[in-house]
Amino acid sequence: MDIRFLGGAREVGRSAILVNDRLLLDYGMKTGTPPQFPVDSVDPEAVVVSHGHLDHVGAIPSLLSGDRRPPIHWTPPTRELALTLARDTLKLHGGSYRCPFTETEVKRVTQVSETHGYADTFEAADHEITFYNAGHIPGSAHVLVDDGDTRLLYTGDFHAGGPESDGDTPDRTDRRGEPIRGQRLVSESTARPDADVVVCESTYSDVTHEARDRIESAFAESVRTTLWEGGTVVVPAFAIGRTQEMLMVCDAHDIDCYVDGMGKGVTQMLAQYPEFVRDGETLQRAQSNARFVTGRDGQRKRIADKNTVVVTTSGMLSGGPAMTYIPEIRNLPVNKIALTGYQVEGTPGRNLLDSGRAEIDGRVMPVSAQVESYDFSAHADRTGLLDFLDSYRDARILVNHGDRCEPFADELAADGFDAVAPELGDVCRQ
Ligand SMILES: [Zn+2]
Repeated sequence: MDIRFLGGAREVGRSAILVNDRLLLDYGMKTGTPPQFPVDSVDPEAVVVSHGHLDHVGAIPSLLSGDRRPPIHWTPPTRELALTLARDTLKLHGGSYRCPFTETEVKRVTQVSETHGYADTFEAADHEITFYNAGHIPGSAHVLVDDGDTRLLYTGDFHAGGPESDGDTPDRTDRRGEPIRGQRLVSESTARPDADVVVCESTYSDVTHEARDRIESAFAESVRTTLWEGGTVVVPAFAIGRTQEMLMVCDAHDIDCYVDGMGKGVTQMLAQYPEFVRDGETLQRAQSNARFVTGRDGQRKRIADKNTVVVTTSGMLSGGPAMTYIPEIRNLPVNKIALTGYQVEGTPGRNLLDSGRAEIDGRVMPVSAQVESYDFSAHADRTGLLDFLDSYRDARILVNHGDRCEPFADELAADGFDAVAPELGDVCRQ
């Protein structure tokens, strides 16, 4: 088996892997100025997609230019998310170099789409493919690829759960009374299918997440304190996954909230696929606990004056309705901005954390409101990665999707694994 790394090698973003020159796994984009796309042009016979985040699906419609029509295989939520993201990219950047496809190509996506559930084996470009729940976002999959000789497991992004600190938070159990070890939205990755080679993400290979119940309790307590003191809490959150997770956290802790931005539509869409979330009813309840903001008639400014909580895009303050709320609440120290995920270097969210200033519409504004950060990660941490890889001691490990792929591969090698971190453009033969 030939495994060619077209993106996501020693980096996060533009994930794309070509198997045996025929089968493409993911085709993402790396946001930034300028945005980056997978290297080399490809003409695959079929495409298989791990999950619906921009860095894994962002450039998919461009594979359907001219008379090219490779089938695209994914889970139903991944299909919906890919289309949502493609339409958003068109709306924001259509006609410019930042958008590598046209409306016509986005429409073609629906014509070539083939959806599959977990553990339901299918064929793509003469390979046998099986999806397994990856526990990252709804519909996210580990992709098992069998070409008849070699079995490749492409982990995609995943979350394998983690420790609960002391079990004294009874609200972190599911409806069967089992403890929730990771996200409320999706259950953890548990499948460990046999494989000869594993392409493994490594986003948090040097991070140990704090126990999830502690993060959640700290967040809920902090939000309640601000509400008690009469302030407004803005909770910036990514539209896909994080917004729904925060709505579920608010609901579980009896915190009323508003929801705004692209996460609204994504929440409604995901509620249609209960088999791809941990518990469809709990998501539905969280959805009804949240009030959906229309943004009409100055509604956002009125909400910003209220003693309430708003969960809104964008997660790193680089756009979205958060840009309306932050200027409104920034002057009062009683207000709070509770960030809910990793803030990439150079983003307004990161600058706010580091310098206490927010750049909004090109203007740098001092922020007197409290700024806090909570690690509601959807990725495995170091312990999670090592636990996962422990099932693959006899396989070859190809480390990708991280800022420190090479050191992590070296650490694995020192621990007895056959592990390397391929570079962009590399072909690994197995
Ligand atoms: Zn992802």
